[in-house]
Amino acid sequence: MNNRMNQEMLKKNFEEHEFETSFFETKEQAADYLKAQVKGQKVAFGGSVTLQEMGLFNALSEENEVIWHWNEPGPETLAKARDARIYITSANGVSETGELVNIDGTGNRVAQTLYGPEKVYFVVGANKIEKDLSAALSRARNVAAPLNAKRLKTNTPCSRTGERCFDCSSEARICRATVILERPTRGMKAEVVFVNETLGY
Ligand code: SF4
Repeated sequence: MNNRMNQEMLKKNFEEHEFETSFFETKEQAADYLKAQVKGQKVAFGGSVTLQEMGLFNALSEENEVIWHWNEPGPETLAKARDARIYITSANGVSETGELVNIDGTGNRVAQTLYGPEKVYFVVGANKIEKDLSAALSRARNVAAPLNAKRLKTNTPCSRTGERCFDCSSEARICRATVILERPTRGMKAEVVFVNETLGY
């Protein structure tokens, strides 16, 4: 895992893959940037410790309608989120070669990154970045997912310590869909907002 970002390589490889990129040293700078970019919009958030740590819900709520099931849980909120023009989430694994990996249980988060919004922002801390797609996939499976299971206190073998995946067959398994974005899907804009500090998991 890299603790510092190779900005030049990330910019080159993600932009070659048709993603927009932006780079910030701190989460506060990234939040200010998103506040300036997103105004008067219907915005939805994916479940994300990164966004929580940034305080982004309150920051964007000043000038937008923000829909977040972590703020208002329930199926109605998830249904409302499907109409948002802007979607903001993080990624579970990011490759320096220009791919984004997300693992989902309910599917709402990965679905919104594939079809629906006009633009998706992925806010990514330096701790999410790996050297290639294989390592990013491994990070998503063996680091992000067990830590999320631990946070959710799921009845899965990984949730006790959050240290590794057991590829379980539990009913409570949170890993049900793995999406690799190699490029933004056709007709959708996507920007990766890199933050050079540890954010989320
Ligand atoms: S597959 Fe099961 S054991 Fe592995 S991280 Fe997901 S929930 Fe945990």
